[in-house]
Amino acid sequence: MADQKTKYIFITGGVVSALGKGIACASLGVLLKKRGLSVNIIKLDPYLNIDPGTMNPFQHGEVYVLDDGSETDLDLGHYERFLNQSMTKDNNLTAGQVYHTIITRERRGDYLGATVQVIPHVTEEIKNSIKRLETINGKVDVMICEIGGTVGDIESLPFLEAIRQMGLEGEPNDSLYIHLTLVPYVDSAGELKTKPTQHSVKALREIGIQPNILLCRTSKTLDESMRKKIGLFCSVPSKNVIEAIDASTIYDVPLKFEGHGLSNLVLDHLGLSAPEPDLQEWENLVTNIKNPTRRVKIAICGKYVYLKDAYKSIIEAFIHAGAENDARVDLVWVSSEDIKQDGAAKFMADVDGLLIPGGFGERGVEGKIESIRYIRENKIPFLGICLGMHCATIEYARNVCGLEDAHSYEFYRDLKHSVIHLMADQENITELGGTMRLGAYPATVDKDSFTYKAYGETEISERHRHRYEFNNEYREMFIEAGLKLVAVSPDKKLVEIIEVPNHPWFVAVQFHPELKSRPIAAHPLFRDFVAATVEYKKSQQDKKQSETPKKPVA
Ligand code: GLN
Repeated sequence: MADQKTKYIFITGGVVSALGKGIACASLGVLLKKRGLSVNIIKLDPYLNIDPGTMNPFQHGEVYVLDDGSETDLDLGHYERFLNQSMTKDNNLTAGQVYHTIITRERRGDYLGATVQVIPHVTEEIKNSIKRLETINGKVDVMICEIGGTVGDIESLPFLEAIRQMGLEGEPNDSLYIHLTLVPYVDSAGELKTKPTQHSVKALREIGIQPNILLCRTSKTLDESMRKKIGLFCSVPSKNVIEAIDASTIYDVPLKFEGHGLSNLVLDHLGLSAPEPDLQEWENLVTNIKNPTRRVKIAICGKYVYLKDAYKSIIEAFIHAGAENDARVDLVWVSSEDIKQDGAAKFMADVDGLLIPGGFGERGVEGKIESIRYIRENKIPFLGICLGMHCATIEYARNVCGLEDAHSYEFYRDLKHSVIHLMADQENITELGGTMRLGAYPATVDKDSFTYKAYGETEISERHRHRYEFNNEYREMFIEAGLKLVAVSPDKKLVEIIEVPNHPWFVAVQFHPELKSRPIAAHPLFRDFVAATVEYKKSQQDKKQSETPKKPVA
């Protein structure tokens, strides 16, 4: 399709937030890619932060870090995973970035003589950022634009105005508007209700956007009469009213959409022709996710266990690793503060593995350290990520090396033994936004390690997000005490992975492997960690069986 002009698909959301717009965009992207089209996705976020990097996970969920070091919305994780395609900072535009650009220009005098206004200056900047993505990341057949927020929000108005204008710039079939909405089932009435969707589309039409396709989130099947009714009230042909029924796994969404003919509708509207999609790989993936023959329990011990969005990529990485191991991974969420109160044994005794994720702040750290001690001593598989590696280092220093007051400089400044300390190039940093060690960095792995077994190579590249690191002054002490420092940065200055030997599987990493796990290629560390938990569970069962007294033969 080389010299075809780019077609735009704009996806808005209505009624309530959290309907899965990101997954809808990513799923449509998969279908178009599987039809041989090149696709890219941009997420437009209407908030005023430059990026989500300084936001609390309770506000925003996980901050998703890209190879180029940008801190972005977690939907970019869905895009990368579904499209199997790496994103860059230009795939996420926030209102904060738009205003920052405009105000910088205004101060420079670029608008001399003019009043700077939402229309045309903000809207032009939004349109240019969408179009600029192509000149930076390469031309594509289809550009999908996800507009964050819900129609009716004040802050998303400039974005909606910008995409309205873009639709007028080319031919009618150069752009397509999809609205994701909710058709709730009301128990007391015993039926699905279309009114919220009617109101949401009305709000969209009031600002000049007529959706071409409606994706209707629902818990019950939308029958023909319901689709006709929605179509009639919303001025959309009923064949373009697509059911988006709740799915047991998000990876089933592309298949469900295709079952309702979504990619054909999109192609017809955009005047594109392409071969039928080959979805075999996705069908196999979904079959593997839905029908595992084995089952393991892995504890995740963190601070935000009540907010699963804070650990989105970790949850997905376990789904990918489970599918490759023919195992269902049941995650057991343990609040690190509860461990401090009740002890680790209560929570860790019947799990097959423990993961300590990344995090910030001292709250819950003692509980994490306690749970690592239990897991290390009882030889249960362990994966530590970033703060998880810091906690594993502190635990080893205290309980194996005998440094009772070992801790991290992140939490206490006047320690005798800061086994984790501030990175040298972080010392003079005063601004907090975008200043951590961020993005992809290479590391060299020792061959004699669990890590090398997982990757099968000595040169790796992984994504980072941290200010604190393993303190090199303690390297010798740790090595003498048996801890293995199995990966370092190419200049050997930074310890990137530690392992405890004579253990079924104990690996702790300074980076975030979960950010590079893909459904069709689980991350090697997650894959081998899950494999180790399967082995561990089996060994426990065998042990139990051999301990059960045999009945005497009569
Ligand atoms: N808070 C720690 C640091 O800044 C760990 C960060 C993380 O877990 N991503 O180094």
